[in-house]
Amino acid sequence: MHPSRPPFIAGNWKMHHAGPSGVELAVAVARAAALLPAVEVAVAPPLLAIPLILPECAEVARQLHVAPIGVAAQNLYPAPKGAFTGEVSAEMLAEAGCRWVILGHSERRQYFGEDDAFVAKKVAAALAAGLGAIACVGETLEERTSGRTLDVVLRMVDAVIPVLRGAGARGVIAYEPVWAIGTGKVATPDDAQQVHAAIRARLAAADASLAATTRIQYGGSVKGDNARALLAQPDIDGALVGGASLEIDAFAPILRAAQALAAG
Ligand code: PEP
Repeated sequence: MHPSRPPFIAGNWKMHHAGPSGVELAVAVARAAALLPAVEVAVAPPLLAIPLILPECAEVARQLHVAPIGVAAQNLYPAPKGAFTGEVSAEMLAEAGCRWVILGHSERRQYFGEDDAFVAKKVAAALAAGLGAIACVGETLEERTSGRTLDVVLRMVDAVIPVLRGAGARGVIAYEPVWAIGTGKVATPDDAQQVHAAIRARLAAADASLAATTRIQYGGSVKGDNARALLAQPDIDGALVGGASLEIDAFAPILRAAQALAAG
């Protein structure tokens, strides 16, 4: 991580913890985060849980005299309103109190056919509505073994660069090698750093301030025991965490690793 970019750790709950267990987990995360002021923290619950979680996290923040943790959605539809059955717009998420949205996750690309252009539209819609956008990029195992990692990742980055300009700290890229998601296989810190550095260089070629302000999270089997080595890399500014964000005892050590590094 770099001193000019506060570490950002987000938990992607996917399709877990939609009810009371989500409120309990979010409150535990909010309480843990209150002790770790150098780390920006967000949770991304299922949509239904968001109106339950927001007031509880606000209450924790009020009691402990800290800023509330961020709450993120896991998707949006890039139109303000209209006949789009089953969808939710960026404006609706912002109005509900979300601060962030995760976009272009590999599961959405793989199962729901989202392509680079559609992901870029979503990122633009999120930023226009005042949300922060976490744009996910990453290669499959086949793309990695055939030597195409950077081609694929930088193609995905190129698609979002035009819409990330001017977003400042609200623009985040999550590098998530698909083969490392939910598999227990984690990129080595060196391998991850190489890709993060290439992403940073691509941002810098477009706009120096974009490279300086955009946080690049690593995602893919981040756990308490590997977080520190990953986050210590100069171009890794945080983590997008799936499985280990589903229990406070697994998530809190990742937050503490980020705090320890950021606080020196
Ligand atoms: C994810 O899906 O964003 C993710 C990184 O999952 P996991 O941490 O479980 O690999």
